[in-house]
Amino acid sequence: MSATAPITQDLLTIPRRDTEEGLPNIVGLTREQLRDALIEAGTPQKQAKMRVGQIWQWIYHKGIQDFALMTNLARPYRDMLAERFSITRPEIVTRQVSEDGTRKYLLRIAGGHEIETVYIPEADRGTLCISSQVGCTLTCSFCHTGTQRLVRNLTPAEIVGQILVARDDLEDWNRKPDEKRLVSNIVLMGMGEPLYNTDNVRDAMLIAMDGEGIALSRRRITLSTSGIVPEIARVGEEINCLLAISFHATTDEVRNRLVPINKKYNIEELLDSCRAYPRLSNAERITFEYVMLKDVNDTDADARRLVKLISGIPAKINLIPFNPWPGAPYERSDPERIEAFANIVNKAGYSSPIRRPRGEDIMAACGQLKSATERARKNPRMQAGSAG
Ligand code: SAH
Ligand code: SF4
Repeated sequence: MSATAPITQDLLTIPRRDTEEGLPNIVGLTREQLRDALIEAGTPQKQAKMRVGQIWQWIYHKGIQDFALMTNLARPYRDMLAERFSITRPEIVTRQVSEDGTRKYLLRIAGGHEIETVYIPEADRGTLCISSQVGCTLTCSFCHTGTQRLVRNLTPAEIVGQILVARDDLEDWNRKPDEKRLVSNIVLMGMGEPLYNTDNVRDAMLIAMDGEGIALSRRRITLSTSGIVPEIARVGEEINCLLAISFHATTDEVRNRLVPINKKYNIEELLDSCRAYPRLSNAERITFEYVMLKDVNDTDADARRLVKLISGIPAKINLIPFNPWPGAPYERSDPERIEAFANIVNKAGYSSPIRRPRGEDIMAACGQLKSATERARKNPRMQAGSAG
């Protein structure tokens, strides 16, 4: 994007709603946690499993936000639930719609913190890009989120809540199993490093994949990591979704500069953990994300080193033209350079799509996310309801 790009968008501000209702949120509880809570509330042990399934279907298939509407539960049981639990989502502060249909939600969560969630419609799918932390502790030098310090990890409720909010806004409820959904895919590529919040991300994704939960296939969920090597095996074992690696460089020297966590877990260790990832096959390839930075990591020699490094790993290389942000110390590689790089990778037998930046006019593209409050402080136009 550029600050001068024309912006046609609809900016919607929805009135405030209380994010903390006091009662424990039923959203985001694991099956076991909810079952235990229901038993503690007097549900007979042998009914509890069935009640969890019923409640989950109301919340995650139908998007119900009021226990009174759970009509297959007896009246007193609904009352009991309403006395003990809430059904709470993050609050939408603003929703921006890009010229290309991309929607960016700024959400407020408990503590007044803000996170961003982005919906990207495409011909054959609708991808929701969700955040796992407020800010990020890592400081990748090309990433806007990396300039914001970590505030805290998101809870499972806040991670699942991003999916619920988007489905509310898109009116994407009550889909039959064979019916097209607007939110058909999830990528953990928003703010934060998901593998510094692995437990909560796992609990949320198990709800996303459960048939009585959001009911998305595990192959429609991709977790992107900058390379927290000791946690990668857990993703395969405990979450079992697809994996994307933010690779970005072909020597440790350059990767140390771009993705500083490389000083702790270097390229060799990272690739070893990829080779050990379970169920790798052509149908379940690892995505290597590679941001194209002019004169930094974009030479033919880089492309050749890249294919050599990943040889033997069923993989796809996602080339991401660098998305600029104010003050960024890099430039996007020229289109011809990206094309030449892609050709070398492609000739070596790897699919190498060049990611078309989406939602640039609303700063919704990869690596541009950062709490708007922080931007707004520096840019009074934001407060007036315009994009940054
Ligand atoms: N923390 C995780 C997930 C969030 S970042 C990770 O790093 O993988 C999602 C993707 O966007 C990563 O591949 C990241 O490297 C990339 N990205 C970050 N900033 C970018 C920018 N300015 N332009 C293009 N891609 C960027
Ligand atoms: Fe954090 Fe990912 Fe950005 Fe690196 S690229 S700073 S890990 S969000």
